[in-house]
Amino acid sequence: MKIAVLAGDGIGPEIIAQALRVMEALGKHGLKFELSHGAVGGAGFDAAGDPLPAETLKICEGADAILFGSVGGPKYDSLPRAQRPEQGLLRLRKHFDLFANLRPATVFPELASASTLKPEVVAGLDILILRELTSDIYFGQPRGVRTNEKGEREGFDTMRYTESEIRRIGKAGFEAARKRGKKLCSVDKANVLETTQFWRDIMIDEHKNYPDVELTHMYVDNAAMQLIRNPKQFDVIVTGNMFGDILSDEASMLTGSIGMLPSASLNAKGFGMYEPIHGSAPDIAGKGLANPLATILSLAMMLRYSLNQAKAAERVEAAVRKVLQQGLRTADIAQPGQATVSTSQMGDAVVAAL
Ligand code: NAD
Repeated sequence: MKIAVLAGDGIGPEIIAQALRVMEALGKHGLKFELSHGAVGGAGFDAAGDPLPAETLKICEGADAILFGSVGGPKYDSLPRAQRPEQGLLRLRKHFDLFANLRPATVFPELASASTLKPEVVAGLDILILRELTSDIYFGQPRGVRTNEKGEREGFDTMRYTESEIRRIGKAGFEAARKRGKKLCSVDKANVLETTQFWRDIMIDEHKNYPDVELTHMYVDNAAMQLIRNPKQFDVIVTGNMFGDILSDEASMLTGSIGMLPSASLNAKGFGMYEPIHGSAPDIAGKGLANPLATILSLAMMLRYSLNQAKAAERVEAAVRKVLQQGLRTADIAQPGQATVSTSQMGDAVVAAL
């Protein structure tokens, strides 16, 4: 399995180093990884004057999946937009047509008290939000500010989804549900918006290909409420770009800890980029304080969704659970007064648990 490793900036290299140690440990049990490292973000700019150097893109094109750390930092904030670190990320998404953004929100029982919600509401939570990433009102034309026929200025955007765009994210939702609890909830606003009534019709039609998965529908306002009221009722949620933007951030905060949350962005062929949802954390970079678990859990997602290694994915997730049960905590997930471990000590513990 060929993996492009793009560590990036800030804490990126520190957290990726721990994920690589986990891969090495898996390698001793039969999985063969061939790693190629590429510079991206600020590191890409430093190395080649470009946040996505041609050499890095070539490495990614030859890989089965991309493992991504994080990009950005104050050093690069005053660069022209095209040279900013985040352009590396956006260009990768565009180049590989990574239209499906998967964000699991999992609450390990040991960390239930880190959430702002009552522990009994979130303990054991395990849901997946699937957000369409390349269409919807964020990209629809026309858009802008104009003067209307009454002579008043107005702002406008266009919500738009083509049938093929809905079908491919629908398929990704059904496939993801198949690999989990076989329940898919499609979130829309079909009572008000034509585009999302169309979305619902296509989801119902696509369901014919996945009779083993239960499909339900929910209006987005209700979904926002249900995520807080009883988040454990969901397995996989699939939704459009704008609703997914909002609901995935809401869901991530159910878990209370940014250092624990992995993500995947996939294209129609199952090729994907895997990264923690957090940024490069310049405030703690180089201090050994970063929590590497979001990156290690991103590796587990890579094993499951791009490499078809579900058993290995479960082993990695079980190892993470074990170290949490053993009471190991980096500073971001520790209770006040609780002893903490460094980034590499957390990596040591996961490798030992594996
Ligand atoms: P951030 O996610 O980097 O940090 C927010 C807070 O969370 C900070 O206090 C940080 O110390 C903490 N934190 C983040 N990850 C952690 C981890 N693994 N362990 C422990 N603590 C952690 O967000 P920010 O401060 O808004 O952005 C910093 C830089 O990262 C900016 O340049 C921004 O553009 C970039 N960024 C990159 C990505 C990405 O690469 N996908 C995402 C978001 C932000």
